[in-house]
Amino acid sequence: MRLSRLLVLICLFAASALAHAAPNPDWTTPLAPFQIADNLYYVGSRDLASYLVVTPAGNILINANLESSPPLIKASVEKLGFRWTDIRILLNGQAHYDHMAGAAQILRETHARNMVMQGDDQAVETGGRNDPGLWALPNGDARYRAAVREMTTTDMTPEQIYELGMSEVKSTESQMTVIAKQQGYSDWKSYAAAIISNPKLRATSRDEILNTYRQYVAQMRPKLPQLFGLLPKASLEVVPVEAYREKEAAAASYFVGTPDGSRPGKVYVNTGDFEDRELPEIEATAYHEGIPGHHMQLSIQQELPELPPFRQHASYTAYIEGWGLYAERLGKDVGFYQDPNDEFERLASELLRSSRLVEDTGVHYKRWTRDQMVQFFQENSLETGDDLQAEVDRYISYPAQALSYKIGQLKILELRKRAQDQLGDKFDIRAFHDEILSGGALPLDVLDSRTSAWIVSVKSGKAANGR
Ligand SMILES: [Zn+2]
Repeated sequence: MRLSRLLVLICLFAASALAHAAPNPDWTTPLAPFQIADNLYYVGSRDLASYLVVTPAGNILINANLESSPPLIKASVEKLGFRWTDIRILLNGQAHYDHMAGAAQILRETHARNMVMQGDDQAVETGGRNDPGLWALPNGDARYRAAVREMTTTDMTPEQIYELGMSEVKSTESQMTVIAKQQGYSDWKSYAAAIISNPKLRATSRDEILNTYRQYVAQMRPKLPQLFGLLPKASLEVVPVEAYREKEAAAASYFVGTPDGSRPGKVYVNTGDFEDRELPEIEATAYHEGIPGHHMQLSIQQELPELPPFRQHASYTAYIEGWGLYAERLGKDVGFYQDPNDEFERLASELLRSSRLVEDTGVHYKRWTRDQMVQFFQENSLETGDDLQAEVDRYISYPAQALSYKIGQLKILELRKRAQDQLGDKFDIRAFHDEILSGGALPLDVLDSRTSAWIVSVKSGKAANGR
């Protein structure tokens, strides 16, 4: 959606030269820059969310999309009397979510209002508000339902998602309790605290972090033929995040290679502040970002010859992140997570995604305050300190996005169970995974009906049970 809006915006600049470009004027009319809050200015057009935050440490432009539209933003910033060369820029690109979290942090520090990250139209209409939830905007409940629909690609209501989140949180916490007790702790929180405070579970060097990731990727590789018929042509490398973006980068992220396999897919690992990084978190993350997670799914998608190009690059967060989270669990299916600390951290990663269902619907639908969100997280996650605060602000500033991980994973698990129940002896996990991956990223409701149709054809012997 963002990309298509940007394309419209590019058309605006070319409008004088290209008479045939007829953008929707409502989307593209440039607005005069103006002040939203004490330290915060709105710059750009109605459709391009760009905010200038003025801080004592330097002025920062957020969410700027400068690759596509430098002239408009630059002119707008200069009109306000700021020097373009003094501005630091947070781009809204590949690592979108990191930047959003970083941006939210800056907004908090400058006492600006959270709402400005929710889209330019809202900023224009309201000029700031005190309640963090989307419900507080005009037609807020409908806006949130639309955001939920867009991000989950299902018809689930906020109430259903809230209830689902609560029950998933409970069930994951009871699994964590079982492991904690096996390890001699009275409950999962004291076990979590013991892991966090154990210096032996922290990295001692940058190389140790990299090597741990590489070791998990290497042990997963020979297991892939048990799980998949389709395998990506592109190879996978684990590389360190460049020093210049260590401060803002996530612990790890995936960057897709080229469709012809000439450039490998890469898992970027943040080795900065290595002494604060916990080793037990790495196993689940390696399967999520690398194999069988994002590298498998995104490489296969863009290598599928039968898919038209727009489908080879389709992006549905619920499907993509659902697959990532599902992949963390696949490691367990093939016998990994043998160290209880690693298995506990895998469950903690599940817990985070389940808690997000409660946090997001909590603030935007149940009218929770920010303090309620912080409190729920303190009780139902391993997040602490700045990470916890940044998580909370991310949900406030990007409604419904954080729902996609757990909703997507649960859908894939539901489809797997459906196929197992209906196919019995005919069920083959490799054929099932190939079926899930071979359509590329899809809305979950489309994935559901496609998988049902596949089950019927395997049952009747019309589809090969395997590719
Ligand atoms: Zn992911």
